[in-house]
Amino acid sequence: MAKLQIRKVGDECLRKVCRPIETITPRTLTLLDDMLETMRAADGCGLAGPQVGILRRICVVEVDDKVYELINPKIIAFCGEQIAEEGCLSVPGRWGKTHRPMDVTVQCLDRNGETVTYTGHDLLARAFCHEIDHLDGKLFTDIAEMDDE
Ligand code: ZN
Repeated sequence: MAKLQIRKVGDECLRKVCRPIETITPRTLTLLDDMLETMRAADGCGLAGPQVGILRRICVVEVDDKVYELINPKIIAFCGEQIAEEGCLSVPGRWGKTHRPMDVTVQCLDRNGETVTYTGHDLLARAFCHEIDHLDGKLFTDIAEMDDE
């Protein structure tokens, strides 16, 4: 595994709409491994392709010691609401409160190319929304009430 460089706010990669992954190759699996290692080294709970300069719909999330590898994820259901503090590895040192759904169901491909669905509550729901937003070029600062403003 190898650590990747995390792009920071101001990098144009973070504002691009990413393209789907059409074929899962060994390179895709290496990317997932590298993204997980990079996220853990940075003490984050999620990391999306554009944050490491890959403009593809892929992200990793780790919450409560469970790893989620999301390829071409889509939110297919959500309900409730939460307002909570959020940050981002690409926006270091800044935090803000966002409104997110309390429960989110995501459909995606796993590393075997199987269609899977994951339902997240609370922090996991927030992480899914945050990472999927990255794939559409959105940052949490677009919707957050920032603590430092
Ligand atoms: Zn982020």
